[in-house]
Amino acid sequence: MAGLSALPRYRGRFAPSPTGPLHFGSLVAAVGSYLDARTQGGEWLVRMEDVDRPRNVPGAAEQILATLEAFGFAWDGPVLWQSQRDAAYGEALDALRQCRLAYPCACSRKEIADSATRPAVDGGLAYPGTCRGGLPTGRTERAWRLRVDATETAFVDRLQGRVTQFLEPDVGDFVLRRADGLFAYQLAVVVDDAAQGITDIVRGADLLDSTPRQIWLQQCLGFPTPRYAHLPVAANAAGEKLSKQTLAPALESGRAAAELIRALRFLGQPAPEELGRARPVDVWAWAREHWQCAAIPRQRSISLVA
Ligand code: GLU
Repeated sequence: MAGLSALPRYRGRFAPSPTGPLHFGSLVAAVGSYLDARTQGGEWLVRMEDVDRPRNVPGAAEQILATLEAFGFAWDGPVLWQSQRDAAYGEALDALRQCRLAYPCACSRKEIADSATRPAVDGGLAYPGTCRGGLPTGRTERAWRLRVDATETAFVDRLQGRVTQFLEPDVGDFVLRRADGLFAYQLAVVVDDAAQGITDIVRGADLLDSTPRQIWLQQCLGFPTPRYAHLPVAANAAGEKLSKQTLAPALESGRAAAELIRALRFLGQPAPEELGRARPVDVWAWAREHWQCAAIPRQRSISLVA
């Protein structure tokens, strides 16, 4: 008889950045990752991505956790705080330095803007590789970058299908530790997903373009690559992703059930509107019974009609 231990384990996570309160867009990611985990008997972890100290808004992390609780999310284990993980990120950077995959870079933003010739996938500029062969004489190190190569990085997303990127022309060698000494999101997320044994990443499709970088980093560090499912992101009527910058309103805990219904419907789940007047626990009972991953729209973004 096949041993039960052969069954794949599932561990998912929700990883908000405390740059403001939760809004509808982040709720969609939380609901999608939570239900994908729970309906497969999986664990669901919460990680506070507060590695980028200047962007953290005081009190936002606590507010996010309180909102998650008020909305009836229950996470496994303690919350992991990236701001306490510098030692782990430093070790990963050291390992990459030792095998010469990471190198110091002296370029300022302006120098890159003056010398770069190619746009990057994220709207910036692809790093032209100026410091790849060593720091030019007389220059001092500012950031640390990861060497990428010219081959194609590809993966099959459970929702968005096959995604490919040529890291060298599309992104260039990317930053692991910034000029201000802080570790970059790309390094922190990869180190933490591996350290927490995450098997499944369900998050917004705004992170699709970062995924090949993260897979490349996993390969450089000898980490397994999790499965990915990138959910459509909620956009405003102008097509802009809901975020603090686009002034997305904060979720109100008093409207938890109604907002959960709205998030479920956004994800293609026909949750009955009248449940919006029930308690969050009743919405979750419906959702756990009826969740259909196959019903999630396979789009990168969906506009909310005002
Ligand atoms: N902290 C990231 C954000 O809030 C999410 C990272 C992730 O899910 O990998 O956009």
